[in-house]
Order: sequence, then C-alpha cells, then structure tokens
Amino acid sequence: MRGVLHCVLAGILVSACAIPRAGGAPVAPVERAWSVPTLELYQEWWTRTEQCSGLKGDMSLVTFYAVDSPSGAISLGTEVAHGWWIREGNRIYLPANALGEEWLVRHEMLHALMQRGSHPAGMFVEACHLASGPVWRDSTLAEDPGNPHGR
Ligand SMILES: [Zn+2]
Repeated sequence: MRGVLHCVLAGILVSACAIPRAGGAPVAPVERAWSVPTLELYQEWWTRTEQCSGLKGDMSLVTFYAVDSPSGAISLGTEVAHGWWIREGNRIYLPANALGEEWLVRHEMLHALMQRGSHPAGMFVEACHLASGPVWRDSTLAEDPGNPHGR
C-alpha cells in the first residue's frame, strides 16, 4: 500500500486502515474499474456529509470508480477493503454492487472532504455515523467497535 490511503477494510480487519508509505509505487491496481458519473443522489450525499462534518469541498474534483466485485471486497496491492479513497487523483473506488450503499459511499466522501485516510471518532462516529456499518446502523455508538482507536 504505497502512496495510498484507504478505508473500510473487508471482513474483520477493520482496524487496519493502513498508513501510507512515502514514495510512490503505482496506484492503479484496482482492476476492472470504470469511472461512474456522479448522480444527483451523490451530490445530495456529499452535501449531507459536508453538513455533518462541517467541511466544505467540491465534489466535482472527486472521481468515482466502480469495481466489479460481487463480494464487495476490493484489493489494492496487498490490502483489501470495501471501498477506497485515494488521495492521488482524489479517487473513490466502490464495489459496483454497492454504489447505492449510503454509509459506504459517504464514508469515502468524508475521507475526500478531510483529505486524510484516518478515522477520527469525533468525525466518523459522532458527527457523521459513517465509521462502519455497525456505526451507521446504531448512531448511539460512541466508537467504532471494529476500530476503537479510529485509525
Ligand atoms: Zn475509511
């Protein structure tokens, strides 16, 4: 995972959102990806993510990609995640079958708004409830059970 920030790891490894290494290896390993036009729905989700986070950003600077991944897992190098935000090019990769999954799409949007790959609880859990599926379903959670340290 070089020069890349990602999130929402698949399976139980939710806490392992990796820190990018310096130096740059290729960043286009997400295979079978194609760019998707941003829907009106995405603008709505973007706006709501701006509102919960208090951040402002231009969604037209973000490119969304769909990845053919029936399992919902997307590999990037040796890492596997449900979705990825990549700083370089401000790109978001989502499984094609999860383009309508609000928490996942908005989770990646929040990374794009923050321009960082970590998961501070104040933002991802308390303000926006977008840390993970469990946090999305139970907005009373104060921390992400799969990632208590907000990495
Ligand atoms: Zn994330």
